[in-house]
Amino acid sequence: MTLQYVATTCPYCGTGCSFNLVVQDGKVVGTAPYRRSPVNEGKVCPKGTYAHEFVNSPDRLTKPLIKKDGKFVEATWDEAYDLITEKFKSYKPDEFAALSSARVSNEENYLMMKFARGVMKSPHVDHCARLCHASTVAGLAASFGSGAMTNSIGDIAESECIFVLGSNTLEQHPLIGRKIVQAKQKGAKVICADPRYTPTARLADLYMPFVSGADVAILNCMMQEIIKNGWEDKEFVEKRTRDFEKLKEVVMKEDYSPENVSKISGIPAEQLRQAAEIFGTTKPGAILYSMGITQHTVGVDNVRSVANIQMLTGNLGKPGSGVNALRGQNNVQGACDMGALPVVFTGYQKVIDPAAYKKFADAWGFPDGIFEPKNGYEVTVMMDVLTDNPGELKCMYIMGENPMLSDPDLNHVREAIGNLEFLVVQDIFLTETAELADVVLPAACYAERGGTQTSTERRVQMWRKAQDPPGEAKEDWQIFCELAAKMGYAEQFPYQSLEDVFKEVAEVTPSYHGMTYERLERPEALHWPCPSLDHPGTPILHREKFSHPDGIGVFAPIEWKPPAEVPDEEYPFVLTTGRILWHWHTGSMTRRSETLDSEVPTGWIEINTEDAKELGIQNKEMVRVLTRRGSVEAPAKVTPDIMKGVMFMPFHFAECAANILTHNALDPIAKIPEFKACSVKVEKITEA
Ligand code: SF4
Repeated sequence: MTLQYVATTCPYCGTGCSFNLVVQDGKVVGTAPYRRSPVNEGKVCPKGTYAHEFVNSPDRLTKPLIKKDGKFVEATWDEAYDLITEKFKSYKPDEFAALSSARVSNEENYLMMKFARGVMKSPHVDHCARLCHASTVAGLAASFGSGAMTNSIGDIAESECIFVLGSNTLEQHPLIGRKIVQAKQKGAKVICADPRYTPTARLADLYMPFVSGADVAILNCMMQEIIKNGWEDKEFVEKRTRDFEKLKEVVMKEDYSPENVSKISGIPAEQLRQAAEIFGTTKPGAILYSMGITQHTVGVDNVRSVANIQMLTGNLGKPGSGVNALRGQNNVQGACDMGALPVVFTGYQKVIDPAAYKKFADAWGFPDGIFEPKNGYEVTVMMDVLTDNPGELKCMYIMGENPMLSDPDLNHVREAIGNLEFLVVQDIFLTETAELADVVLPAACYAERGGTQTSTERRVQMWRKAQDPPGEAKEDWQIFCELAAKMGYAEQFPYQSLEDVFKEVAEVTPSYHGMTYERLERPEALHWPCPSLDHPGTPILHREKFSHPDGIGVFAPIEWKPPAEVPDEEYPFVLTTGRILWHWHTGSMTRRSETLDSEVPTGWIEINTEDAKELGIQNKEMVRVLTRRGSVEAPAKVTPDIMKGVMFMPFHFAECAANILTHNALDPIAKIPEFKACSVKVEKITEA
């Protein structure tokens, strides 16, 4: 029996761990440590350990499917392509929208973006970053000129003080959580603010439970205390930033005194003072945040407040410091970098910038031009347009996304997708969204392909092929090339390999200019920006100057605003949602992994012990959970580890889908929905 070991990177979270896929007789049969990775040094979390289990699932899509009389019928690739081509050609550019994928490679995100804007000439392309870190991209770009995690993962272990806000790092980015543990072992102080007493909170020297949605108030209060006590980094503020006086005017208001913020957040005033003192006086200090910060109607405000406190304390541009936005999916950073967003091309070059537009139009060489130079719709806006203005959008092409479980207010999403005339879904399983499609195209999974993905720390790493795709499934890049050829654009999609695509990406993207497959083959790979072939890459951003043209960081005076929906008599609790250690997003992969699924087979709602007592609810009892948008039934998990007045549901489980309940209220800039706070009630289920 000969076993082969193929080093690749994990298909789940944005940490970017590497492991070996173990291959026997041409099939992936296991995983094994890959110790040369500087990110995870041979360690992985449970999802990484069992990342082979879904690969050869009997549920994998193996042939194209065409829906006839409401039922899927197997088809040849030519039949599927012919139908798609006929339909795609029948729509005007603005009637078409594309959803790209944070799960596939950079190269394939680039091709989806090029297909939408070049072949279909539509401005509407987006992906699930809209649902997780769109506010990071917008907020950090406004503050620093670049919308990505400023430091590297290894750096976190060098920090003297780590403030975790809106992130359950130990469960959601476990191998980044390991760096918090390492820093703490070396003596670092850890502060954690979270409505739930999570494994991450248990690590903290100072744990502050708070009511979801109070982030800006807490950060303004801490900045007030830091300024009052003279703990700010005066030299940094003076030399590297502007608009400090405007910030001061807001944060020094009485509204943000510890006593007043205590009323908003539920954190005792003394703890707020203590947090400000620890963070203001211990250097270097890093902030780690994730979707607890971003998934709000004030997501951009939250991110800018995090940027404010890090500029105020001079915690930028050095090891152990930084604004560490922990990106969710394996390649959500890369999908953003590749311009799978409605306002930018690759490397965040704006579509409405005439020079950038001309550069891409010239580079791509479509004889009949590309899309009109205007911003397209965000995925959340696409869903609103589909329900509110039927007939404006008619056709959608979705690759590797499952909005029927991942988007807020699923009844609204179902109505929106139902209003499409023609839907193509390209995926590895028949997801809840694929079931609604007119044509389903079977794709290769991460173990069956090469290409690159960019982790949360901007590290661009390789996937490596370990087995062939099942049946007739194809790699996404091949599907794009073949479909583009059928649409009459073979010349614009001439690629023979993913490496050919990457060469084009590197040519048109300044931050990737210096990258080649040869350079990325090394275990340490490269962090962007890497502007030239002799550049070593950039693990820490903003060392000498920020990325704005003048090199200066910009403070933003931000006032606290409550969530769009606040508890009232009818819906008296705050519902917040999130991930758990054993599952990934909509569960399409982890729920097909025998081990992960048997560890945690279904969802639940977490209810504070006192609240449960008042409601007469017992642990494990099935309850009905209701918001203004719908209801689900789920077992209650009664625990003192969640704040009174707050409830939590994981969002992976279709049978008790938390997103039936969540609210599609959007941040006005980033158009990210407020997953992290809506009003909810819980009822006992009485026998009929
Ligand atoms: Fe994969 Fe993330 Fe776990 Fe690492 S921490 S093994 S990248 S899921």
